Amino acid sequence: MRRKLAAGNWKMNGLSAQLAEIDALRTAHPDPSVDLVIAPPATLISAMVVSAADHPLQVAGQDCHASESGPHTGDISAPMLKDAGASHVILGHSERRTDHGEDDEDVRAKARAALAADLKVIICIGESLEEREAANTLEIIAGQLAGSLPDILTAENTVIAYEPIWAIGTGKIPTLDQIGEVHDYIRSKLEARYGAGVGRGIRILYGGSVKPSNADDIFAVSNVDGALVGGASLKAADFSGIITALE
Ligand code: PGA
Repeated sequence: MRRKLAAGNWKMNGLSAQLAEIDALRTAHPDPSVDLVIAPPATLISAMVVSAADHPLQVAGQDCHASESGPHTGDISAPMLKDAGASHVILGHSERRTDHGEDDEDVRAKARAALAADLKVIICIGESLEEREAANTLEIIAGQLAGSLPDILTAENTVIAYEPIWAIGTGKIPTLDQIGEVHDYIRSKLEARYGAGVGRGIRILYGGSVKPSNADDIFAVSNVDGALVGGASLKAADFSGIITALE
């Protein structure tokens, strides 16, 4: 069975005072029965690792460069994230794809670099509203999976996050049938490419306006193994409600 995963993405939010939320999460979930990962801004990774010491909460980067080191001002490499204590990195988030022009090939190169640095990858894919309305969702998903995922990965080191772009930060979510359709489709593609063992073991998260009030319904959908949560991961009380729904 796939172990459930609640991942939080703080995006460009959080000064050191925000780490109090980690203390609150620890208190609310001293012994969680699901995996917990939070991706703070890079400036807080080391401090969050300290805050999460002796607790199963793991810390992620929000992006990494495809090279190990070099003349790339402002960028952070996968070995640097690992060195700072991160265990995971989110790659290909739609905000990276939009703000920084990242395409599937970039995401795949970053994923290779992250896996080589012994980080686990959370690779984001998802369609725009125009693509959804033109009934192109599955085609877009197939293309992003084919292009963004490296050929060699394992069920342990790779997580897929399905995040419809139009659902991120908007309060809108797809119908449960639509979520199920895409998650089942992703599962079938993973099995076809990586074989049944690996393909069935990779966790598929849903992301986009997940809140405590809709989490139960979303987590009941087939092939939804958890959530990648933005806004509702910033407050321990909200994220805790989502964790409880997953447990
Ligand atoms: P949201 O963001 O939960 O605020 O919609 C999700 C994400 O971008 O990962």
